[in-house]
Amino acid sequence: MSTRTIAGPPSLSATVTPPCFLAIGPLAEDAIVDAVRSAKFNCYAHPVGILPARRAIAEYLSHDLPYQLSPDDVYLTVGCNNSIEVLICALASPGANILLPRPGYPMYESRAAFINLEVRHFDLIPERGWEVDLDSVEALADESTVAMVIVNPGNPCGNVFTEQHLKKVAETARKLGIFVIADEVYDHLAFGSHPFVPMGKFGSIVPVLTVGSISKRWIVPGWRLGWIVTTDPNGVFNKSGVSDNIRRYLNISADPPTFIQGAVPEILDKTKDDFFSKIINITKEAADICYDRLKEIHCITCPHKPEGSMFVMVKLNLLLLEDISDDTDFCLKLAREESVVVLPGVAVGMKNWLRITFAIEHSSLEEGIARIKAFCQRHAKNH
Ligand SMILES: *Cc1c(COP(=O)(O)O)cnc(C)c1O
Repeated sequence: MSTRTIAGPPSLSATVTPPCFLAIGPLAEDAIVDAVRSAKFNCYAHPVGILPARRAIAEYLSHDLPYQLSPDDVYLTVGCNNSIEVLICALASPGANILLPRPGYPMYESRAAFINLEVRHFDLIPERGWEVDLDSVEALADESTVAMVIVNPGNPCGNVFTEQHLKKVAETARKLGIFVIADEVYDHLAFGSHPFVPMGKFGSIVPVLTVGSISKRWIVPGWRLGWIVTTDPNGVFNKSGVSDNIRRYLNISADPPTFIQGAVPEILDKTKDDFFSKIINITKEAADICYDRLKEIHCITCPHKPEGSMFVMVKLNLLLLEDISDDTDFCLKLAREESVVVLPGVAVGMKNWLRITFAIEHSSLEEGIARIKAFCQRHAKNH
């Protein structure tokens, strides 16, 4: 076996970094500049966020819902990761547990572990397009379960749930008496056979806490502006004290900078559809390239072609490799020998799988996957 070191740029990103090949819409930049220059936002904001921003988010999300959200349903956060922090802390109580998807987005586990909220994992089923294994949800839940989390479009799986499946999730949660937390930070980033449907559409079946941000759809992950939205036409969160707990937590935490909040109405109202469709087209092409090229690599199988977000999960067949002990070993050696970074599946709860990010320039993507192929051939058994 030979190894080689390549000085070229790293090709596939392991973490969520801005896909720099996509220019930020000039509109979003102008909205920030206008907000700063207006001198209207050189002040502290209300702990739940300024009204015009909450109103704009309520309008934005109501487009896809069967009922109208009110600004009071919206809480501004310092990005979607902060939304997760607030919700986990607001729902945690001694003896409680929460149901999380496997594979999943690790921030939920880390937050829950920090505050001693017990975590139980239900499976997403690769052969069924990464749908939720609803039987395992039912088997895991008990009277101390507070909520289940879904991520749609999916990170790390790149799947998009159908409307029928979301309805079944809602009905299952209702039967179990638990809330649904819907992480929709990749909302509308869907390019497969079915459209993105927000979980909040089923808010009359089960109360839904939707989390999102401008990070991914507007490709400004460092701007730190996110939200928690209660899609709950029956007012269950108010009666059960969940809304109070969210407000109590926000009262003692830091807010997104006021001028960023001030720019939200312009960013949400004025971004043109062609900005989004350009991003979707580029991402869809990248997903196609990624899926087709990965098929040529013997030790990797991809059970489900990505149809949303920016990621795909693939399974490693270690029996075909000579000197690789597991997914972490694969990723470390790949980074060392080929300067290509992919995330070991163990980081998202699936040992001996890999999560590959395809939101990079198409030429870099091709080069990166070619390097993975060369690496796999070099480490193949009977090479
Ligand atoms: C990126 C990401 C977040 C965090 O979003 P920020 O707005 O950057 O904090 C939350 N959930 C998922 C699934 C993500 O991929």
